[in-house]
Amino acid sequence: MKKKLAIIGAGIAGLTLANFLKKFTDHEFMIYEREESLSLEEGYGIQLATNSIKILNEIDFKKINNEKLFNPKTLDFYNIQNEKICDLDLSKFNNEETKYTTLQRSTLIEFLKEDIYTQHLRFGKKIKEVSELKDKILIKFDDNTNDLVDFVFAADGIFSNTRSFFEKKKNEPIFKKAIAARVILKSKSELNISDENISLMLGSKSHLVLYPINKKKELNLVCIMRCKKFDPDNTKQLITNLVLKQNPKLKIIFDNEIKSWPLYFTPKILPSSNKKVFYIGDAFNGFLPTLAQGAGQSIESAYEIFNLLKENKLVSDTYFELRSKRAKIVRKRSNFNFFAFHFSNSLMQKIRNFFLKFLTRRKSFIKAYLNPVYKN
Ligand SMILES: Cc1cc2nc3c(=O)[nH]c(=O)nc-3n(C[C@H](O)[C@H](O)[C@H](O)COP(=O)(O)OP(=O)(O)OC[C@H]3O[C@@H](n4cnc5c(N)ncnc54)[C@H](O)[C@@H]3O)c2cc1C
Repeated sequence: MKKKLAIIGAGIAGLTLANFLKKFTDHEFMIYEREESLSLEEGYGIQLATNSIKILNEIDFKKINNEKLFNPKTLDFYNIQNEKICDLDLSKFNNEETKYTTLQRSTLIEFLKEDIYTQHLRFGKKIKEVSELKDKILIKFDDNTNDLVDFVFAADGIFSNTRSFFEKKKNEPIFKKAIAARVILKSKSELNISDENISLMLGSKSHLVLYPINKKKELNLVCIMRCKKFDPDNTKQLITNLVLKQNPKLKIIFDNEIKSWPLYFTPKILPSSNKKVFYIGDAFNGFLPTLAQGAGQSIESAYEIFNLLKENKLVSDTYFELRSKRAKIVRKRSNFNFFAFHFSNSLMQKIRNFFLKFLTRRKSFIKAYLNPVYKN
């Protein structure tokens, strides 16, 4: 039966759900976005593993200009001195149609907004009040408009404000005492890495990830650093004290504009207490970025909702069971990576590197660690 749906937030999760609803259903829906426009900031890269590409292919991901995509074949591990440790073959998770892909986030958002923008997206919408009316939910916005809907899909990110309207139990995101700094590089410069692959450089209390974001091989560099306080004015100083102290030669890659932000994660995975309200993407659970699965899980959660709706089986418990199972798999690995990437003790680093070399060659390990995430 045709339903009326509200999606709160036009990030990757909200837009993905909207695309599936538009393409495959006749449900009536609207995305309500708090900002006045979509953030299409150039540069900022994103990795999409095969689990999310497989889903995006159903909404014609292939129509994106191929020049704006890259398919790295391996994940190369280095120490922070830029000496190679080992590599992991990512292409073994690929098939003809579904390949590990890197791109700019803006390329993904441009693609996701294309069929939605004019009819199904409203900007500058902040929820003022919600109430239940018979079997429906009435959302009142602070511009005095409202919408009466059958279901609400909260896709408003890790600090989900929608939660505060529907949930008594708080699940406030926690600062991980770490900072991410991002730089876009025109080329790999003097680094001893391949600009065809993803490079991961492991240092003490810090690590760097570099990957191409298009066929021009511009590189996205993300540097994660442990730090008790977030002060964006001090990011350069932190890089100098923590990263460049370990390898001064890296200075050249931090000469471009640096953007930084604090890393948060959601402590608990909690069900929705309202059977008409569903959380997707980071609003369901915010992961650490050390498995590069945040966007992937946003896409997966949107797809799970779409499938349940399509089959007329959209029930809180069913969705929560499905989603929390997936989230736990990803959370466990993201947290473990965060821990293992940052050893400062040189003996621990040696032991980790030994295991890395050993395990990246073991089919059984890769199968156990990554297959459940990439769903192969
Ligand atoms: C350093 C770093 C690197 C990352 N790298 C990767 C990667 O390589 N691969 C990957 O898969 N993931 C990565 N991620 C994670 C990924 O970016 C996020 O998980 C993903 O963007 C979450 O999407 P979302 O749609 O749930 O939320 P968001 O992208 O946060 O979107 C939420 C939307 O809701 C809107 N909104 C907020 N509040 C309200 C409100 N009250 N009312 C209406 N609208 C509202 C916001 O304006 C926004 O448009 C990374 C994250 C970090 C921090």
